[in-house]
Amino acid sequence: MREWWREIAGLVLPVACGGCGRPRTELCAECGAQLLGGVPRRVRPDPEPPGLPVVHAAAGYENAVRAALLAHKERGVLGLAGGLGRALAGAVRAGAGRPSDGRPLLLVPVPSARRSVAARGHDPARRIALAAAADLRRTGTPARVAAVLRQRRPVADQSGLGARERQANLAGALTVAAGGRRLLGAGRVVLVDDLLTTGASLAEAARAIGAAGGREHAGPAVRHAAVVAASPSAFEINRNWK
Ligand SMILES: [Zn+2]
Repeated sequence: MREWWREIAGLVLPVACGGCGRPRTELCAECGAQLLGGVPRRVRPDPEPPGLPVVHAAAGYENAVRAALLAHKERGVLGLAGGLGRALAGAVRAGAGRPSDGRPLLLVPVPSARRSVAARGHDPARRIALAAAADLRRTGTPARVAAVLRQRRPVADQSGLGARERQANLAGALTVAAGGRRLLGAGRVVLVDDLLTTGASLAEAARAIGAAGGREHAGPAVRHAAVVAASPSAFEINRNWK
């Protein structure tokens, strides 16, 4: 109910840029350039959690990009999903490339806590993933969303926790839904999320996928992940490291 109300409200209420608040546009040209104007780069949190796949990000989590991600996530400005999805698609292309074997890329979103989905009325990472998959298909890369990850137990709110506490908070928290393992066999998995901070969620998601099916029939190893934005410090690795 909340979701359709928001979509209708977006049609009749005045809109403002999710990046800077300028009226009559959901994302103005300048904020769009901050989100989409850069070259997606590899990012690494420091310390890097064990098991983290290679992660690419479209932009730094600051200024208009941060404002747009928060507007989408917390205020439900759903019209921003298109631009955020295009940015995510760029990060996916930079890391995973275009499959040469014709198998699709399977974008697996990191799930939000059920509590947050209920409170927000939508699952932001999943919505951005759907927009990214559409953008990839439009530009000739077969891709679809496989939302197979579930939270196995409640976790504490990550904000305010340090890197090590986040890892402990999330260890073993995710699992692959029944029937999800079969879906994962249909293509090449790329984990996706809106934001990389410590990398703990992406590392836990990769572990859960690898563990799907148990020890004897392990799930696929996840080599790539992509996010819309990452902490600016996670980009610094590019200066000394390739
Ligand atoms: Zn703007």
